[in-house]
Amino acid sequence: MPRLSNENSLMEPSREKASTFQEHLNSALIEVRKHGLWRALRNVESAQGREITLNGKKILNFSSNDYLGLAAEPEIQDAAIQAIQTFGAGSGASRLISGSLAPHRQLESALADFKGCDAALTFSSGYVAAQAAICSLMGKADIVILDKLVHASIVDAAKLSGAAIRVYAHNGLNDLEAKLKWAAAKTQQPGTASQPRVLVVSESIFSMEGDAAPLPEIVDLKDKFGAWLMVDEAHATGLYGPHRRGLVDHFGLAGRVEVQMGTLGKALGSAGGYICGSRALIDFLINRARPFIFSTAPVPAASGAATAALRFIQSKHGAVRVKKLWENVRHFEQAIGRPEKAVPSVIIPIVLGESAAALNASQVLLEQNIFIPAVRFPSVPRGQARLRATISAAHASQDVDLLVAALKKVLPATK
Ligand SMILES: *Cc1c(COP(=O)(O)O)cnc(C)c1O
Repeated sequence: MPRLSNENSLMEPSREKASTFQEHLNSALIEVRKHGLWRALRNVESAQGREITLNGKKILNFSSNDYLGLAAEPEIQDAAIQAIQTFGAGSGASRLISGSLAPHRQLESALADFKGCDAALTFSSGYVAAQAAICSLMGKADIVILDKLVHASIVDAAKLSGAAIRVYAHNGLNDLEAKLKWAAAKTQQPGTASQPRVLVVSESIFSMEGDAAPLPEIVDLKDKFGAWLMVDEAHATGLYGPHRRGLVDHFGLAGRVEVQMGTLGKALGSAGGYICGSRALIDFLINRARPFIFSTAPVPAASGAATAALRFIQSKHGAVRVKKLWENVRHFEQAIGRPEKAVPSVIIPIVLGESAAALNASQVLLEQNIFIPAVRFPSVPRGQARLRATISAAHASQDVDLLVAALKKVLPATK
């Protein structure tokens, strides 16, 4: 039968291909293991909170970016349910087709109000928000200047934009100035067809170091050289400043930062990313940003929850929550004997060096029912594997004491 023999002849080479494909994957995975970089998913059987359930056991959780304990806040969950009941589980299309729903508009108007900006645009993740902004603003003829430690979403977006990339030493103002000078010389070259645009990108609070960018000085520098600035507030939104808008708010710099970016998935306890700025910036992104144009709109539940989280943060309850968070952080710093930082942060890195050391410390803590994840390359540079603990407003001060006691046990060098 010709049909069968046909199938057979097709199957032989394809089976061979399948095996080389599997071989490729397996040898890559062997390399990953060899370098102590194997990652496996943990099965968390509960909501995010001060405790999570892992393998049926209740574990004190110092791993989450849900810094205000909003992911499991009943008022915010109710808003998500309400959004589903009214607008459904899915958004049906991209925003520009038929997917721009009332929960999206409400969220963006609440975000613009909260941030004190003209306008805001939301995306299904912060990762994609970075891509949307950087890739639509910058092209092959342009220059993107990045802090050495910016998040992968920003690095990937800068690469995808095709712009020339320059990296300055982490929080290094002299190096940033040198890179800005270099870029300014390029923009003033005679005979250049189009003037390159220059964009500086920094996080405000760095995700793996927990330190703050010197934003006032960065703003002065980019103004001096006529560059633009994008600030990623992923670990600061909701936590800093008189309006809890972020570190830009803390330093009173809102009018001087061209692009403000953040996520709805951390202190806001929901999911999604945002860009805030001028009306023209937002209209530009609606018209140009491919991740906005070609992707289904965020689900109504996420937008509804994020809107409720913004309301919560701006309420008296929010003020209490933020106060509790900073009390926990101060309590920790004092108990562990660290000097107070000018700009405190909820992120506590304990750098251990080799991957195995970080993994081992994390495992020892887990056996004591305390979860602090080990963070390794490529999330941090090689040789700088660490425990990354995060403190939340959901923790009780006794939880912080348990954290300090446990850390002192695994790290005899930590006073
Ligand atoms: C988490 C994070 C992002 C990405 O946000 P998601 O909403 O999780 O995609 C971007 N930048 C920084 C600094 C982050 O920590």
